[in-house]
Amino acid sequence: MMGHTHAMTGAIAWLGLAPPLAALPLLNESSRYIDTGIMANALTPAELIAGAILCAGAAMLPDLDHPSATIAQTFGPITWALSKAVSWLAGGHRGATHSLVFAVALGLGAHWLADTYPIGRDVMVVLLIGLALRAIGVGIPGNKIGSALINVGLTAGLYAVFLSLGVGYAWLGLAVAIGCFIHVVGDCMTERGCPVLWPLRAKFVLPWKIGIKTGRKFEQKILAPALSVAIVGLLFWRLAPV
Ligand SMILES: [Zn+2]
Repeated sequence: MMGHTHAMTGAIAWLGLAPPLAALPLLNESSRYIDTGIMANALTPAELIAGAILCAGAAMLPDLDHPSATIAQTFGPITWALSKAVSWLAGGHRGATHSLVFAVALGLGAHWLADTYPIGRDVMVVLLIGLALRAIGVGIPGNKIGSALINVGLTAGLYAVFLSLGVGYAWLGLAVAIGCFIHVVGDCMTERGCPVLWPLRAKFVLPWKIGIKTGRKFEQKILAPALSVAIVGLLFWRLAPV
């Protein structure tokens, strides 16, 4: 699947699943959920939107196993080196990073960072914002340095906005796990499939070769607009005053 398809499914998964999940006691910083019932107001509107962006970014993480992908150039040499390392560790494209184990491990790691290590948490948040922006096409085609600089600027801006709106990151691990997992689900819909139960080698793929061919007409002309509409609809549903 293409980067922006993954990013959009990440945002959709977050907007759909996060409010009930984020109300779970472990993920909640305050007693907000106790007063208002299990679902309502577990996340502030700013947290809901910040989460959608971070989850979209997290939905790009599994493809860091592919150093020549656009996404690896998000922050210039920094993300390129990270991508090289991930690729080496994961044993090439669509290996370990495209599995349930990876989604859970990264989610737990991010949750731990959010809880105990603020600088690590902020690095993760900045990386995820940058990946999300890059995935939706922020940058100048053919200009690596210019694109990276634009991305750095916009990422810093968004990070500052979240900070000024008092966004808390108790749900960071949840966003990372959901994003990585929805990426794996998405790639299982393509013709190549994914090793979901890695380290077992079996590939999960749709039967009868109905899997989506990456980057073809269906993904660009039908799927992408449909996902955009779904994001707008979910945002409206979650945020519109009743
Ligand atoms: Zn992938």
